[in-house]
Amino acid sequence: MSERRKTISVDVGNIKIGSDHPIRIQSMTNTDTSDIKNTIIQIKELHDAGSELVRITVNNENSANAVPSIISKLIQDNYKLPIIGDFHFNGHALLEKFPEMSDALAKYRINPGNIGGKEKFDKNFEKIIKIAIKNNKPIRIGGNWGSINKTVLNKLINDKQYDKDSVSYSYLIKKALISSVIDSANLAVKLGLPEDKIILSCKTSNVSELVDVYTDISKKCRYPLHVGLTEAGLGRDAIISSTSALAILLHTGIGDTIRVSLTPEQASKRTEEVLVCQQILSSLGKKNFKPQIVSCPGCGRTTNDYFVKLSQSIKSHINKNMVDWKVKYPGVENMKIAVMGCIVNGPGESKQADIGISLPGNNEDPSIPIYIKGEKFKTLNGSNIESQFIDILHTFIEENYS
Ligand code: SF4
Repeated sequence: MSERRKTISVDVGNIKIGSDHPIRIQSMTNTDTSDIKNTIIQIKELHDAGSELVRITVNNENSANAVPSIISKLIQDNYKLPIIGDFHFNGHALLEKFPEMSDALAKYRINPGNIGGKEKFDKNFEKIIKIAIKNNKPIRIGGNWGSINKTVLNKLINDKQYDKDSVSYSYLIKKALISSVIDSANLAVKLGLPEDKIILSCKTSNVSELVDVYTDISKKCRYPLHVGLTEAGLGRDAIISSTSALAILLHTGIGDTIRVSLTPEQASKRTEEVLVCQQILSSLGKKNFKPQIVSCPGCGRTTNDYFVKLSQSIKSHINKNMVDWKVKYPGVENMKIAVMGCIVNGPGESKQADIGISLPGNNEDPSIPIYIKGEKFKTLNGSNIESQFIDILHTFIEENYS
């Protein structure tokens, strides 16, 4: 794994982003922000699931008006996470007209592609930056493949140095995306915004393009980068695409905050994007959020589906208890549990885990060895294997993480 890219540290509310700070997980609500009650419910759900910052849409006067109430109610309920306002097209006007909102938000996300055409851009952008300076707020300048700044793109298309026959349109779009973000950051600094108030992102919906764009922009600045595949799609496809992109970038040290953008298949599953982010960070060895279960896929050697059921019930037992365990047993999230299906890899994996169970495969001795920290601890027999193993697991947690 490459060393993490060196960046400036940026304070967003009570969270520090970039430099040596942990890679932060972000998410975004999909409620109508003017619906204060449901927006608060969703922010709480996302935060309880592990989102360290939550972004909300501020697209009209009703939503701008709702922001201070949302944030003060969250604080009252002891939810002190940074809330970020997502602005497009009319951000300059809303930030100016609703000073209470501009003050309450922890950060403004703006998109250089839709702040306005050439003349309007300069005026509107300056207005936003001046408000950020006055309120001492950081901004994220977030370029997006789907809303590239036309002025920058047209300038590149008409640039004589690019031979139209040898340079692809996709190459020019990538260049335009990066230029619009970097140029906007330079302009913000020129207008007086300190460098430690700037975070950048350059999102695309294609994995290879995203990796190219972030690899390029990471060499061009020291600002923290928010990374994510935009418009990734639905379900498993979106999770695989997002993971592919984030894994490559994070492994090469690029990325200070992440988001996985999933089109929700059910309204209640908004938190899925947070869980996917956690799994990516955990799989890459960046940070653990809950104990890891190592289990084999099973094969012709497994006698029945008992070992699958056992893995599933241990997983749901962990999920059910994790909120309490996190408080009661610090470090328990780093525990590794092996649940294996036969003697081929069962004892080996179990010995490498903190605690492991190796079930017997076809034609094996029906006894079930348990391993703790590399040593055989005991052998289980009988019909209530699951509850015996869970008891051993609890004792292990009690003795090692209290
Ligand atoms: S550990 Fe055994 S049961 Fe599991 S996949 Fe390997 S050979 Fe099959």
